[in-house]
Amino acid sequence: MARNTDPVCKICKSQGEKLFLKGERCYTPKCAVDRSRDSSGRRGASGPPGGQRRRRRLSDHGIQLRAKQKARHIYGIYEKQFRGMFDEAARLEGVTGVNLLKLLERRLDNVVYRAGFATSRPQARQAVNHGHIQVNGRKVDIASFIVKPGDVVSWREPSKSSGLYKAANDNVGRRRQATNWITVDSENLTAAIDSTPNEDDVDSTIDTRLITEYYSRR
Ligand code: SF4
Repeated sequence: MARNTDPVCKICKSQGEKLFLKGERCYTPKCAVDRSRDSSGRRGASGPPGGQRRRRRLSDHGIQLRAKQKARHIYGIYEKQFRGMFDEAARLEGVTGVNLLKLLERRLDNVVYRAGFATSRPQARQAVNHGHIQVNGRKVDIASFIVKPGDVVSWREPSKSSGLYKAANDNVGRRRQATNWITVDSENLTAAIDSTPNEDDVDSTIDTRLITEYYSRR
């Protein structure tokens, strides 16, 4: 089998788990992480003979760094911006790590993804950056824009002939990232923000305690 050299999939492979960065491909047998395992969960033919892949033992710092990088890659954010969001989360009332995930969830690109208007966060970011999306009827082309309860996210009228809009129409019916805090109108492709996300709505595979520890020692 050909070796997968997709740089995005390499991020998952370096994390040792699926981060779902490539949209529909992540749910097919083409997934590089799935292909690198056999049915017993062990590394397949491309691994070392007869065995489990040997993983380097990580230091506490390495484990914290890995947790932070995982969250950063899932949401597709550069370090400087991620650190800025952590600082903002620390200023809010409550647990910093949970606050951080709630802020990440409220980013406009994430809302477009969660609403099913894109198959991946990178595709959602493209839709926002290219000016296809509006909030409360006003164009917003900043992916890091933070939505609030009462906002309505929708597609701009001129964008309804775009390929991304057509893809959104195809995807919205089978959206995989449903949330309790966003109500989606699949007919008109609008997403109403009902509330801020609560703890159950954020990605439970992200260890916020480790992220907080990572930044606390710096
Ligand atoms: Fe690639 Fe998606 Fe699989 Fe990650 S989960 S390795 S991005 S196909």
